[in-house]
Amino acid sequence: MIPASFEYHRAASVDDAIEALGRDEDAKLLAGGHSLVPAMKLRIARPSVLVDLGRLDELRYVRDDGDRIAIGALTRHAQLVADPVLEGACPVVARTAELVGDPQVRHRGTIGGSVAHADPASDLPAVLLALDADFVARGPDGERTVPASSFFTGPFETALGPREVLVEIRVPKAERGVYLKHARRAQDWATVGVAATVVDRATRVAFAGMGATPLRVLGVEEALANGAGAAEAASRSDEGTEPPSDVVGSSEYRAHLARVYVQRALDLL
Ligand code: FAD
Repeated sequence: MIPASFEYHRAASVDDAIEALGRDEDAKLLAGGHSLVPAMKLRIARPSVLVDLGRLDELRYVRDDGDRIAIGALTRHAQLVADPVLEGACPVVARTAELVGDPQVRHRGTIGGSVAHADPASDLPAVLLALDADFVARGPDGERTVPASSFFTGPFETALGPREVLVEIRVPKAERGVYLKHARRAQDWATVGVAATVVDRATRVAFAGMGATPLRVLGVEEALANGAGAAEAASRSDEGTEPPSDVVGSSEYRAHLARVYVQRALDLL
């Protein structure tokens, strides 16, 4: 449980972090460290240089930007839980952050780290997908915005380039949103998680734990758009999914949970 040796660089700015990433192809960004450090201890991750973003307080904020809410990538889960702007304009993000891990994880882990880590069982990525969030990345060639629909490219893989820093997440104002999570213990990752939101009168549904990435549940969305009720729409929950089988549960069990939780989420929405 001891990581391989590495160098440590404390980033003084986002540009400094981008430059440090460019100096060594095995360099990695460190945010809250609650996914990366355990992986390093198991030697699944062996970065040569850790570029620590932890002092960049300019990336910790939640602000109302007109029709969207802008969230700095280093905003911790605990800050999301208590943020008054989110509570008023997009409460599903705050309520979901409350379900992440335990208090220690929520006080260190960041929304940007959760998104960049792209664990298919993570809670916030599924909610951000159901909100059709935008992710703002900054790299050597400047800034670009990636929509959630094309951000998650595989298990623990994203559209971020090796020299890009995720700097901001933008979510729409969505008074109606629900995230339900089935987990074995309170602090566990989702066996299955279901996010449902209504934005501009369109209902979007997304899963955690039902495939290689967080997934939009397009069959359910289509059924709802055609006037189906919650039970009928939920019967299409497994379309396009590839639920894994592991020690936590079989794929059949996950598919069953998915149907039950989609119906519950739609009933609550
Ligand atoms: P780090 O561990 O610092 O980084 C994770 C990865 O993202 C690294 O590859 C890093 O290079 C990259 N990265 C970080 N920030 C950026 C950035 N700004 N730009 C580009 N790349 C970046 N999560 C859940 O969703 N639900 C749970 O129930 C849950 N339970 C947990 C329980 C425990 C005991 C632990 C240890 C973690 C748990 N987590 C859970 C994970 C938690 O949410 C982590 O905080 C999160 O996944 C990673 O955030 P971090 O800030 O710690 O990132």
